[in-house]
Amino acid sequence: MDDGKILDGTRIGREIQAEVATEVEALARRGITPQLHVILVGDDPASQVYVGSKARTSAELGMRSETHRLPAETSQAELDALVDRLNEDAEVDAILVQLPLPGGLDAHAVLERINPYKDVDGFHTENVGLLQQGRPRLVPCTPAGVMEMLRREGIDPKGMRAAVVGRSDIVGKPMAMLLLHAHATVTLCHSRTRDLAAVTRDADLLVAAVGVLALIGPEHVREGAVVVDVGMHRVTDRATVERLWPGNEKKMAAFERRGGVLAGDVDLTAVAPRAGRITPVPGGVGPLTIAMLMSNTLRAARLRRGV
Ligand code: NAP
Repeated sequence: MDDGKILDGTRIGREIQAEVATEVEALARRGITPQLHVILVGDDPASQVYVGSKARTSAELGMRSETHRLPAETSQAELDALVDRLNEDAEVDAILVQLPLPGGLDAHAVLERINPYKDVDGFHTENVGLLQQGRPRLVPCTPAGVMEMLRREGIDPKGMRAAVVGRSDIVGKPMAMLLLHAHATVTLCHSRTRDLAAVTRDADLLVAAVGVLALIGPEHVREGAVVVDVGMHRVTDRATVERLWPGNEKKMAAFERRGGVLAGDVDLTAVAPRAGRITPVPGGVGPLTIAMLMSNTLRAARLRRGV
């Protein structure tokens, strides 16, 4: 693969983190340490990994972070009480409830309860509304990370035809809104879109946030398009590794070593030759998401403390 095509999320994520660390240091000189509180209910293995890396990264950047681990049988009232306590605590800048929540808990109700100024994921209706109006305050981390990457790579969506595949509240919809505000002409696709490939082939910029392994193939991509892959899947069977990375000994060795490898919603091997630029998985959107969470935590601290 032509390495010049790769949009390197790991490198850009590191740049963003270094900038956040510098600003955290400046705040520390004024006696302020941004504080991120993560609430994890239950023992979903993927959530455990995400929460661990959020805590580790915030500590590395000089911020304080605390993880509240609650058992799966936690009641709505107990969860609400914790959110209330964190809302009232003047030292707490950012609150994040790790999704998905175990069955029986109402995610919408919990997200609405978070003080919108501490809503570092940007999921509260107030923040959703502000984003829609083009007055963003705290923007969901994954689409914010994609925009930051485009900006830093000199890819201006203005005037582009953009297709976003996936209309979730956490990725697809805010992604479409951000691209629209950046003056792209946006088409938002989903599972009922008729002839998806015909729609996406028209796009100069294609964002895949579908949750279906390697759904996007070369037939979906216009020659020279910018392709951004938000999807994240752990591939644990050999046949799929061979299909997605034919003849790639390095990938196969990684699979043997770890019992699985990560892949996205885009068939990277098949699509890369057609794409102008493309994000890999791993090392694309994932590191940008965590970097933007750190950036949002810093922003929340500043906004609320009037710095
Ligand atoms: P989601 O809530 O499951 O939404 C998936 C969307 O894709 C839905 O809008 C669905 O359409 C659409 N879709 C499903 N199958 C389709 C098909 N065959 N053709 C066209 N559209 C289809 O997923 P999500 O939370 O947005 O996440 C999407 C992916 O991104 C997942 O792989 C997730 O793990 C990953 N992710 C990664 C990061 C990161 O940091 N890298 C962050 C968040 C999510 P309907 O609305 O019609 O059902």
